[in-house]
Amino acid sequence: MEACMIVAIPRETVPGEQRVALVPELVPKLRSWGLDVVVESGAGAAAGFPDPSYAEGGARVAAEAFDEADVFLKVQPPSVDEIGRLREGSTLIGFLQPYANAAVIKALAARGVTAFSMELMPRITRAQSMDALSAMSTIAGYKAVLLAASRLPKFFPLLMTAAGTMTPARVFVIGAGVAGLQAIGTAKRLGAIVEAYDTRPAVKEQVESLGARFAELGLQTKDAEDKSGYAKAQSEEFYGKQQEIMAKYVTAADVVIPTALVPGQRAPILVTEEMVKGMRPGSVIVDLAAEQGGNCALTEPGREVVRHGVLIIGPVNLPSTMPLHASQMYARTVAQFLGHLVKEGRIDLDLEDELTRGPLVTHRGEVVHEAVKARL
Ligand code: NAD
Repeated sequence: MEACMIVAIPRETVPGEQRVALVPELVPKLRSWGLDVVVESGAGAAAGFPDPSYAEGGARVAAEAFDEADVFLKVQPPSVDEIGRLREGSTLIGFLQPYANAAVIKALAARGVTAFSMELMPRITRAQSMDALSAMSTIAGYKAVLLAASRLPKFFPLLMTAAGTMTPARVFVIGAGVAGLQAIGTAKRLGAIVEAYDTRPAVKEQVESLGARFAELGLQTKDAEDKSGYAKAQSEEFYGKQQEIMAKYVTAADVVIPTALVPGQRAPILVTEEMVKGMRPGSVIVDLAAEQGGNCALTEPGREVVRHGVLIIGPVNLPSTMPLHASQMYARTVAQFLGHLVKEGRIDLDLEDELTRGPLVTHRGEVVHEAVKARL
């Protein structure tokens, strides 16, 4: 009888990463597919999943899980050193940040690893339960509001007390995709007055259904979204007009949460220094586009700065600050995808299938993803 394929869960080594790519509740599922699971000791500790919780589900806990496995499930991209320890011909699934990580992608190809990047999952109905980016955006949107609420020198809700009436905070969300909509919902639940804008006209109804007001900027967006629902870049002239008209919404707000992204590009600058100057002292900006350079001109990714009396937070990796649910959600998307690749206990790739082909970055010694290859 052929030996079972081994799926390994290495410890994440990127500083600050607290998530893990597989949670204990999913171990029995993988075993039911005929797979063996080996977890590097401590891999789930920071997310609240100690070693014994994996062992209970039938996983093996090992000091080291690199050399023996056939499949590696990761959150962050492996380092070039870790890639040197992956078995040739093995399969890797994780967030590989393929456009920002040329050295890693080249090393994976050179090592003969079949690597899938969860960011590149196609937005098709069949792949909805494998949409790791949306899952993480949900967390980022929620956490951004909590960060803002905890740092704002005001209440979010309207409060009528014996000591007087406190007016509610005003929150302006720029970009109402997955993270933005979650931010809107969370801010509404905390009692703030919420306004939002997005270049995709289809979003207006979603914003209003959450009880927020859609900011009518009167701008004509040409060709606002691609066939996957992602925003398309607009012209410099458009962004200039958007800044001009949006200024009054930004300066009226106590909290601004920009989330506007255009895939594969630096985030557009939508909040200028002039607008920040116009905001009331003590106001807070939580720039969810910080990892892509930021939507605010004064954002410093990974830092908090006070400029013109306004606190500007540029968080990176917010999902990792809520590692238990982030790991649960991420692991479900990864396990669903692994389930799609496995037939009778083995990885069996159908390269004609867009769900398999879409996230595939390296295979048989080559970089096979066209857009990623073009970027190298
Ligand atoms: P994203 O993170 O790439 O961008 C965030 C938001 O910023 C988007 O709504 C975008 O329109 C907006 N934006 C871009 N430029 C802007 C600008 N100049 N001003 C204001 N807003 C701007 O997007 P996302 O949240 O991952 O997804 C966007 C949409 O895609 C979702 O709302 C959903 O409708 C769709 N989607 C589809 C699937 C699927 O079909 N399986 C899965 C997830 C999301």
